[in-house]
Amino acid sequence: MENTKIIFDLDRTLLNTDAMKHGIAEVLGVDNLTTDFVLEKLRERDERLLSFLEEKTADYIFPGVLDKLDEIKQMGEMVLLTMGDKELQKIKVDEMRELKEKFDRILYPKDSQEKIAFFRELVEEGGEIISFNDNQEENDEFKKIYPKNIFSVSKEQNNLNELIDDLKKKWKPIDFKFK
Ligand SMILES: [Mg+2]
Repeated sequence: MENTKIIFDLDRTLLNTDAMKHGIAEVLGVDNLTTDFVLEKLRERDERLLSFLEEKTADYIFPGVLDKLDEIKQMGEMVLLTMGDKELQKIKVDEMRELKEKFDRILYPKDSQEKIAFFRELVEEGGEIISFNDNQEENDEFKKIYPKNIFSVSKEQNNLNELIDDLKKKWKPIDFKFK
């Protein structure tokens, strides 16, 4: 199919965000790390946080994910749809150069509502949609807009690689768009 778009969430889908938060908590010397605190440190240009983000972010990409992205990239346009504080998300994405270069488009909605609106716009562009996201509430909203190929990534045990393998088995080769 022409124009297939493969949409990925970032946090807890491609990136082990919880493990990364532990790393940030350690480097900032706090027990209970909140997003507000991280953002405060980011605005202050805290050196410990900035060096951590620069040097460590890529280490938290789930194992095997970069290879799987290369495989699925054959199927269409790669879209990263990552919600959160735009500056923080952008730094994270920019520091994961190898991951970033696998995507054709990167969108930074500020909240879940905007994320769903962006998803709707992608659907309205036409063509087939495939989506991978760990957020069940967002997935439920996505399904209302586009009922198939919405894959829920498990929060407990990241199963993205298995989901991609399954999809590749089921996908008809005629749908493959080789770039
Ligand atoms: Mg997520």
